Amino acid sequence: MSTPIPHLWLPYTQMQTMTPPLRAVRTAGTRIILDDGRDLIDAVSSWWTACHGYNHPHIIMAMEKQLHNMPHVMFGGLVHEPAERLAARLATILPKPLNRVFFADSGSVAVEVAMKMAVQYRLNRGDSGRTRFLSFRDGYHGDTLAAMSVTDPDEGMHALFKGYLPEQVIAPIPRDKASTTEFHHLLEIYRHEIAGVIVEPLVQCAGGMKMHGPETLKIIAEAAHDAGAALICDEIAVNFGRAGSLFAHTQANIAPDIICLGKALTGGAINLAATVATTDIFEAFLSEDADAALMHGPTYMATPLACAAANASLDLFETEPRLQQVAAIEAQLKRELAPLADLPGIADVRVKGAIGAVEVENLHDLDWLKGQFVDAGIWLRPFGNVIYTMPPFTVTPAELSNITGAMAEIIPRWAARAGENRGT
Ligand code: PMP
Repeated sequence: MSTPIPHLWLPYTQMQTMTPPLRAVRTAGTRIILDDGRDLIDAVSSWWTACHGYNHPHIIMAMEKQLHNMPHVMFGGLVHEPAERLAARLATILPKPLNRVFFADSGSVAVEVAMKMAVQYRLNRGDSGRTRFLSFRDGYHGDTLAAMSVTDPDEGMHALFKGYLPEQVIAPIPRDKASTTEFHHLLEIYRHEIAGVIVEPLVQCAGGMKMHGPETLKIIAEAAHDAGAALICDEIAVNFGRAGSLFAHTQANIAPDIICLGKALTGGAINLAATVATTDIFEAFLSEDADAALMHGPTYMATPLACAAANASLDLFETEPRLQQVAAIEAQLKRELAPLADLPGIADVRVKGAIGAVEVENLHDLDWLKGQFVDAGIWLRPFGNVIYTMPPFTVTPAELSNITGAMAEIIPRWAARAGENRGT
C-alpha cells in the first residue's frame, strides 16, 4: 500500500492517512526554513530544545572544535574532558546533594536509568520489596517501556500494552483536597512497594501543559520521603529556564533524590540527557560486590560532541540574559493570551515561564489548524485540545506577538468551525 512518503516511518503518525509533512532545509535564529523558501517562526523550539534559538554561533563554534578533535569515543573505561567539565558544572548549578551525573542519549533513557537507580538503591540497601513507582495522571516520561509505564495511562497506552508494561500506581496530582486525599491514600496503601515517586515539576508538558504550584510539589516531596520512596524529578521538558528558573523544582524548595535532564541541555543542537543522583543514592552502589554496580551504559553516552554543545549552552546561560528573557516572555504571554480566556469554545488559558497554552473545548480538524498557522508563518504543533507555544528564549517581542496574534486570530475561528461542524 502506498503512503504519502516512501521509506520513512514517522513519529506519532498514521502513515496511511497523514498529510505529507513539510520539508525543512535550514534553521537560523528562531526560524525554520522550508524547501520552498518559506521561513517559519518556531513557536515550539523543536520539541522544546532550542532555547537559544538555532545555530547559535557560540554552540556551533564549540561543536566544530570538538568535531575535528574527537566527535565520539566510548565511555566504558574512558572518560574525557567535555564530560568531566559538564558533570562538574551541572553538580555546581544543581542544589547540593545532586552531584553524580550519569549521561544518556535521550530523555526516555534518562528516565529508565532513574527508575533503575531507585529500584537498585533499595536492593543494595537490603530491601527487595520495593519494585514499583507512583506517578501521576497527565504525566509523561517518555516512550520506552518503563517510561511509558509511569506515563498517564491513556498517553502511555497502558490498556494496549497490558501485560507488557509494569503496572505502576497512578495518582492524581494533589491540587485540591480530594486529589490530595487520594494521592496520600494511594501512597499509603502501596508504601512498602514503592521505590520511587516520579513527577514533572510545575508543568506536565506532554500531558497537556497542565500546571501546578510549588505547594503541590512540596506535598508530593514530603509524602514521598515519608514513605521512604526516592523522589524523582523529571525536568527534561522544563529544565534550563523553561518554567522561569534554571531548574523548576527549586521554586518549591524541595530536595529530589534523582533528577532527569534533557532536551535543552545542549541548547537543542544535538541529543544528550542526564540522570543526576544525590550522594546518598550514589553511595548505595559503592561496594566490594560487583553486582551492586549500576549496570547500564548506552553506546553513545556522554558523546564528546554533545557534551561540548551542552558546555557551550551553559556558557550562554552565564553570558546572555536568558532568565530575564523568560520573565519578559512570561509577562508578554500573560498579556497577550489572557483575553482569549473569555472567548467561546476556549476552556482555559495557562502561562508559566516561557510556556503559553490555550485549551479548547472541542478537538477537531487538527490539520486545518496546523495549516492555518503555517500560512501565518508560524510553526506550531498542538497536541490534543491544547494549542501551546514554547518559543526560543531569544524570540523578539515582535515575533512573540506574531505567535500570540496568530493564536488569537486562528483559535477562535477553529473553535467556531467546531460549532458549525456540530450543527451540520
Ligand atoms: N520526560 C519528559 C518530561 C518529556 O517531556 C519527554 C519528551 N517529551 C521525555 C521525558 C522523553 O524524552 P526523549 O523524547 O528525549 O526520549
